[in-house]
Amino acid sequence: MTAVFADGTTESADLLVGADGVRSTVRTLVDPGCPPPRYVPVLNTAGYSEHTPPGAEMGRLTMVFGRRGFAGWLPAPTGGTWCFANPPLTGEPSAEEVAKTSDLQWRARLYDLHRSDRSPIVALVEATPGPLRGWTTYDVPTVGRWHRGRMVLIGDAAHATSPAAGQGSSLAVEDAVVLARCLRDLPVPEAFRVFEVLRRARAERVVAEGFRTSSAKSPPAVGRLVRDLVMPVVLRRHDPQAWVRAHHVDWDAPVVPVPALAG
Ligand SMILES: Cc1cc2nc3c(=O)[nH]c(=O)nc-3n(C[C@H](O)[C@H](O)[C@H](O)COP(=O)(O)OP(=O)(O)OC[C@H]3O[C@@H](n4cnc5c(N)ncnc54)[C@H](O)[C@@H]3O)c2cc1C
Repeated sequence: MTAVFADGTTESADLLVGADGVRSTVRTLVDPGCPPPRYVPVLNTAGYSEHTPPGAEMGRLTMVFGRRGFAGWLPAPTGGTWCFANPPLTGEPSAEEVAKTSDLQWRARLYDLHRSDRSPIVALVEATPGPLRGWTTYDVPTVGRWHRGRMVLIGDAAHATSPAAGQGSSLAVEDAVVLARCLRDLPVPEAFRVFEVLRRARAERVVAEGFRTSSAKSPPAVGRLVRDLVMPVVLRRHDPQAWVRAHHVDWDAPVVPVPALAG
């Protein structure tokens, strides 16, 4: 395999592992018909604030479901606080529209969304020197083919997840370990086929869950009421994310050929 880069340099190797992220070029070679990444209906903005909310604890990330927006903060060891917010936006804005949103416009939007919340978001934003900037995020729910010839996709290139899942990096690292096991124990292309069988269902389930969580960050009034009543009770009894964190990859276990995925 020889990869030719935009700067004119080339690299030759036995395999090409496409670990090139949500806008993967290798994906377009492995699965040319794959739809483009899907817009996740919340914007992102973040900053470093000079305000420290009362009761803030080092090492504790606090996330809040506000009345009209989701946000969070984490005390920094340097004395200030990192904070982020996810203003909801159903329709995908153009890159130009996001880029030209000014610091003042971001502040006005966050003030409007969070001014009636019992949270320190407005105080955090006011004490953030800025300039505040924002960005859109995307996921990739399913890629029809994960491998072709001596090329294989891993990480966001194969299954990008909304940041709301908090799992994209973990999935990418899991992929790397599982692919290494498969290449250690099986020849190509069997190694790629088994890698996909071992990884696809879990990765796509996390992506689906992440999209659902993003979309539920700012529900209408009735949904909010139900969420605020039900969530504390449910979370006390049951961790709906336990299956995500309980995952274990046994490096030493030999990889054996497995049946193909159905469909
Ligand atoms: C706002 C936000 C918050 C997130 N929060 C979390 C979180 O809390 N927990 C979590 O686990 N995950 C989180 N994620 C997701 C996580 O960042 C990604 O899932 C992870 O980085 C994917 O790793 P990757 O190696 O597959 O791709 P990437 O990290 O995107 O790396 C791809 C690399 O390939 C390079 N590249 C792309 N195209 C080319 C090319 N043509 N030639 C050469 N190089 C190229 C890119 O420059 C990049 O360095 C978050 C993502 C976002 C956007």
